[in-house]
Amino acid sequence: MRLVVDLNRCQSYGQCVYAAPTVFRFHGEESLEYDYAPGEDTRRDVQRAAAACPVQAITLGAATEPSPLAEERDR
Ligand code: SF4
Repeated sequence: MRLVVDLNRCQSYGQCVYAAPTVFRFHGEESLEYDYAPGEDTRRDVQRAAAACPVQAITLGAATEPSPLAEERDR
């Protein structure tokens, strides 16, 4: 699964770290680090993290999915 966090949007609330601690972590006080391609076994936790993020900064998709931008462009 592919995971993207919009770090410009992220306000370091940390909800994702609680929801999926094996995928998200803080480096220092406020700098969020995350696994860009977490295993499928973490999908439920990552979905929970995405739902819990107060600023909807987390986007996830299958590794083989074309990006929405590519789909838009190809129309
Ligand atoms: S829950 Fe959202 S705002 Fe909070 S640290 Fe995670 S990505 Fe950032």
